[in-house]
Amino acid sequence: MPDRTDLSVGVVGGGIGGLAAALALRHAGFDVRVFEQAATLGEVGAGIQISPNASRLLHRLGLAAALDRTGVRPVAVHQRRWDDGRTLQRAPLGAAVEAAFGAPYYHFHRADLQSVLAGAFPPDRIHLGHRLGEFTERDDGVEARFTNGVRVTVGALVGADGIHSTVRGALFGPERPRFTGCVAYRGLVPADRLAGLGLEILSNNWMGPGGHFVHYFVAGGRLVNFVAVKEQEAWTRESWTDRGEVADALAAFEGWHPQVRAIIRAVDETFIWGLFDRAPLERWSVGRITLLGDACHAMLPFMAQGAAQSIEDGATLAACLGGHGVADVPAALQHYEALRRPRATRLQELSRANKTRFHLPDGPAQQARDAQMATSGDRSIAAIGWLYAHDASVVEAAAP
Ligand SMILES: Cc1cc2nc3c(=O)[nH]c(=O)nc-3n(C[C@H](O)[C@H](O)[C@H](O)COP(=O)(O)OP(=O)(O)OC[C@H]3O[C@@H](n4cnc5c(N)ncnc54)[C@H](O)[C@@H]3O)c2cc1C
Repeated sequence: MPDRTDLSVGVVGGGIGGLAAALALRHAGFDVRVFEQAATLGEVGAGIQISPNASRLLHRLGLAAALDRTGVRPVAVHQRRWDDGRTLQRAPLGAAVEAAFGAPYYHFHRADLQSVLAGAFPPDRIHLGHRLGEFTERDDGVEARFTNGVRVTVGALVGADGIHSTVRGALFGPERPRFTGCVAYRGLVPADRLAGLGLEILSNNWMGPGGHFVHYFVAGGRLVNFVAVKEQEAWTRESWTDRGEVADALAAFEGWHPQVRAIIRAVDETFIWGLFDRAPLERWSVGRITLLGDACHAMLPFMAQGAAQSIEDGATLAACLGGHGVADVPAALQHYEALRRPRATRLQELSRANKTRFHLPDGPAQQARDAQMATSGDRSIAAIGWLYAHDASVVEAAAP
């Protein structure tokens, strides 16, 4: 590990993006601290898919054995029709993807992933109960002021503070995230309750009119996670996430395949989320301050890439700061942003496009989609290479 402790970096936010970035920056030798507003670190009770473009970076940080303890490796991605279950596309994951891209495709319980990330970082450098209020940039650093009265000066400040980002608001002005017209019911079902369905270890996505239904195993195979997405005109609840009624979820998926309905019916409790995203930003950085993860590229989860992109952000940020060094932090942040913004923007746009593509009503457009998936799907090893083969830690020495 190089010694670059002459540069201190403050990461605001201890979500998956902030923790992965903190690890990458520490691995690159910087003096890193994480400031998280919550009193404890805790992810929501739900699953997450981590593709090889992100798992490769986590493995390089020495986390492979810890990730393998709870991560499930699906053997294929299976996209199916909503009512009769007909296969639209089945493409390899598992060993084939690992051989092609040098890293696995994983399914995790979010809490498992977060605890692997947090467990690899010195606990005395994760400052809980620190809510960033304001900050001021000076010539040689940034003074961050927390609402508990603590003031800290760092050489670079990274806003990994999620879709409501305080750092983003302070840099670029307030702007509300936009409701995407979709809600998601999420649930975790003990796998033994679904034994009768004979589920394979797959990444499943059922597509139908106005919605889609994703399910996969997490927590070493003990639980089945589902995300049941339905279009809805408005989000009127105060919170972005709320307890949902299983009966409402079943009603939303009335007429869908018995397997879909059996999974929903087996859950004890479900949460309903309004899905929000943001328009792509034109800039992420000002001087010694930058953004990362949902703070700068919140996206619909329909490419399963929000967290993966935040993990990529951290790797590129560490490489850029390593390349430019303490002497020119603003140039390093410009370099980071120039490398990351086009890819994150592309994924924001593809995620939005999948809302239409996944939710087509039965008819000519749906038939054309199905024919395209059957002949030249988008998840074959060749088709997905642009996404999974990308190595975000490889950075040209000179800023573009
Ligand atoms: C239904 C659904 C399914 C998804 N599935 C996938 C998937 O399969 N794969 C994938 O890659 N992505 C997926 N995503 C996206 C992924 O969850 C997010 O992109 C990712 O969690 C964002 O991480 P983050 O660290 O940027 O932000 P967050 O997880 O929001 O973390 C931000 C942190 O900052 C803290 N914070 C906020 N403000 C302050 C402040 N002022 N001071 C200090 N701390 C602060 C918060 O408390 C929080 O801990 C999904 C999203 C949804 C909604």
